[in-house]
Amino acid sequence: YKILRLVLGDQLNAHHSWFKDKNDDVVYVIAELHQEACYTTHHIQKVCAFFCAMENFASALSTAAHHVLHLTLDDTVHYRTLPELLSVLIERYDIKQFEYQLPDEYRLKKQLEEFSSNLKIATKPFETEHFYLNENMLKTDFKAGKSHRMEAFYRKMRKRFNILMQGDQPLGGKWNYDEQNRNKLKSGDHPKVPEPLLFQNDISLIVARIKRHKIKTIGRINNSLLWPVTRTQAKELVDYFCQHCLENFGRFQDAMSCELDDVFGQKQWSLVHSRLSFALNSKMISPAFVVNKAIDFYLKNDKRVSLSQIEGFVRQIIGWREFIRGIYWANMPNYAQLNSLSAHNPLPSWFWDGNTKMNCLRYAIVQSLDFAYAHHIQRLMVTGNFCLLAGINPDEVEQWYLGIYIDALEWVEMPNTRGMSQFADGGIVGSKAYAASGNYIKNMSDYCGKCDYDVTQIVGAKACPLNSLYWRFMTIHEAKFSNNPRQKLVYANWRKKAQSHREEILQQAETYLIEVENL
Ligand code: FAD
Ligand code: SF4
Repeated sequence: YKILRLVLGDQLNAHHSWFKDKNDDVVYVIAELHQEACYTTHHIQKVCAFFCAMENFASALSTAAHHVLHLTLDDTVHYRTLPELLSVLIERYDIKQFEYQLPDEYRLKKQLEEFSSNLKIATKPFETEHFYLNENMLKTDFKAGKSHRMEAFYRKMRKRFNILMQGDQPLGGKWNYDEQNRNKLKSGDHPKVPEPLLFQNDISLIVARIKRHKIKTIGRINNSLLWPVTRTQAKELVDYFCQHCLENFGRFQDAMSCELDDVFGQKQWSLVHSRLSFALNSKMISPAFVVNKAIDFYLKNDKRVSLSQIEGFVRQIIGWREFIRGIYWANMPNYAQLNSLSAHNPLPSWFWDGNTKMNCLRYAIVQSLDFAYAHHIQRLMVTGNFCLLAGINPDEVEQWYLGIYIDALEWVEMPNTRGMSQFADGGIVGSKAYAASGNYIKNMSDYCGKCDYDVTQIVGAKACPLNSLYWRFMTIHEAKFSNNPRQKLVYANWRKKAQSHREEILQQAETYLIEVENL
């Protein structure tokens, strides 16, 4: 071979121009790496999903007559890092040129740049050809340290890629249907919520390999893996979403339920969400493929799927997903250090086993340990909100999010966690902190009815911890937030409370923080 091409675990894009023609001079390397399995403590399902999808991708390439080296942990055990492995392969096959696709993670990008600059042979980086925005577009659209606003970005994306547009106006005359999209799943009074489509992929050999190599993991796994690990499965999941979830996606995207979404009975735990994030982030399918499929379905089924539902879905993919990536690249590496609210408390140990009396948190954490998945509002307004209110160190919060979710890759996890949910970036991602008292959870879920705590109480032995913690959070950060017009009313309400009651609330919060391990 003359050319060695590296395919990373999250670069499983069968439509990449690399694979258009078969070339006997090229060998592809797809390798299970100890460095990738160990850079944080991952969920066991996440490691299995990546390894299994990589194996399937390697085998599809071989079937298409490409030359592929698929290396398992057994083969790479003696190479501590990716560069060590690549150096040996380059020598072994007398390679004349090394080629790679641009990694989405800063850590890997730097590692490969440094490796390439020390190589004596030629190197060529390529675009991944996955996102809507390429490298150059990202650089022009996003600037370091600047507060970008998702809504403006999203509108620009709609125009730029002519998605749900009528001329230069949004289809239906409105850009945003958020106000119609905040429904709760009221008991007995909502459309049927589908059970998730689960695959049954045999991962027994992979699990054995992970154990043999003593890779530390979190979470649980059954005998088979329910996540999609081939392009065919990923496409099936897109179709399933369009058929069963899209018509209610926007309407119930913020809803949470433990009655329906029966984790322990493993029923409707993903509600109307697509669960496409792993298929997307591993690049088995592209965002354009998903968006086009969903829009096509909407156009053919506009009696069932309303514009507000398809718009809500498209916004997540061409809006949030691309926006978050832009923020990451414009602000790395500094972003990883930001802690604008000086949060330094340790993450409670019950984040690792779900052993808390707070039903909302117990539910979101147990679900995450069982399925490597929680939907956006569980991540933002349950686990994220608790960490924000309790002043947990964003480094620890991030390690938890980066490990536990099936879709967790730093480029998308970090701005969502450190920025959107913890406000540690001081407002680069969002204009406000997503801080909420128990009232928000009560309004959007059925969690509180089954909780040991009382959501209507602010003080007292049974008081919902989120209530007093919320007021403590708002008071200690008053200087930062009181000028925000959206928060003026909050501070006015606080001041309406009697001084003695305010003191009692703050005291309650301090007690909860001291006893955080027992909450
Ligand atoms: P759906 O609700 O069906 O949405 C469809 C798709 O839209 C998703 O698959 C995803 O690709 C995209 N999307 C929606 N919201 C976002 C967002 N805020 N940022 C980027 N893409 C979005 N997403 C990840 O992919 N990886 C992460 O590591 C990750 N960490 C998060 C951490 C926190 C604290 C929060 C609040 C959000 C995080 N998200 C992350 C975003 C979002 O929660 C997940 O993308 C979503 O829950 C995945 O489930 P789904 O595929 O069913 O999504
Ligand atoms: Fe969560 Fe408070 Fe409701 Fe319990 S009462 S589920 S802690 S919001």
